[in-house]
Amino acid sequence: MVVIIGSGPSAWTAAIYAARANLNPVIYEGEPSREMIPGGQLMYTTEVENYPGFVHGVTGSVLMRTLQDQAERFGARVVQENIASVDFGTYPFKLKPNYSAEIEALTVIVATGARANWLGVPNEERLAQMGGGVSACAVCDGALPAFRDQVVGVVGGGDSAMEESLYLTKFVSEVRLIHRRDELRASKIMADRVLKHPKIKPVWNARVVEVLGYDSISGVRLENTVTGERSDMNLGGLFVAIGHTPNSAFLGGQLELTKHGYIKTPKAWRTATSVPGVFAAGDVMDDYYRQAITAAGTGCMAALEAERWLAHHGHGESPVLETAEAPVNLTRTWEVQS
Ligand code: NAP
Repeated sequence: MVVIIGSGPSAWTAAIYAARANLNPVIYEGEPSREMIPGGQLMYTTEVENYPGFVHGVTGSVLMRTLQDQAERFGARVVQENIASVDFGTYPFKLKPNYSAEIEALTVIVATGARANWLGVPNEERLAQMGGGVSACAVCDGALPAFRDQVVGVVGGGDSAMEESLYLTKFVSEVRLIHRRDELRASKIMADRVLKHPKIKPVWNARVVEVLGYDSISGVRLENTVTGERSDMNLGGLFVAIGHTPNSAFLGGQLELTKHGYIKTPKAWRTATSVPGVFAAGDVMDDYYRQAITAAGTGCMAALEAERWLAHHGHGESPVLETAEAPVNLTRTWEVQS
């Protein structure tokens, strides 16, 4: 059995490819929680305008539903449960779902994504979920008409906040870079570029304590981190850029991770992880592109690699395309057990 863990664009694309290759994939799409819902980060965005194939854009939730329907049309089975822990030390691999009995897998694709870190202040996530002008991704949302020629805030002092601020200057009239200290954490080159930009104004020693507005954002309430003084600032949008957390903790350290917790895929242009037979796709292994389309691309790669890996280990038909790392025994063919 091929198990795919996750439910974002990488997971559904892997499922489409695996199902069409008769690998009988089972997708553990996760459970709704306060922090994450099945479908992943795209469920928190409204319009997705940069996913190819949708001339007039598509909402994140419709895109995820469409990808899931496409996977299910080819026979992918979906379980709405989290995988709580894994045992990659034995083969077949063992996976323990949150509630149901342990399952075995001949190959696993980890596509659990990452979650944007939120400030956790009143109104922030509510407005983010309803498309009310709060976002954790400028590249996804910055070009939307609602932000055109507005004064918007960016929270954070790292490279992400610098990148988001610079990107937003293409569309907005002014960016207020709100940082809780008076020194940026970002690399010097990015920080210099931001501080020299005529459209970006830093707001030092400031913490957002509340997002203001009912249907859409009208501003933020700030607290000075030195004096404790509070003040309101009018804004037409807020981009929270205080880092991401990859959803890799459930792996219990059984795959090699980067120092930021992303799954390492040691070979360039491959999705194979440190454990043979386990593949990774999407934002849980990518802290660089973080786009729906790149996640979908790596999902496709992971499914193809999983198919070839299985074939090279005696499961399924010989792969059409060989890879350099293929072992020699290609004689046995038998159907993958579901
Ligand atoms: P980061 O470097 O961890 O920076 C997070 C920023 O958010 C910090 O300035 C931090 O403030 C602030 N912050 C954290 N929690 C906060 C809170 N609750 N309230 C207010 N502010 C908060 O994260 P990142 O910027 O996402 O970067 C992550 C990694 O990816 C870094 O290694 C970065 O270099 C890399 N990256 C590289 C590029 C690039 O090269 N183009 C682009 C993006 C990211 P403090 O400074 O006070 O801690």
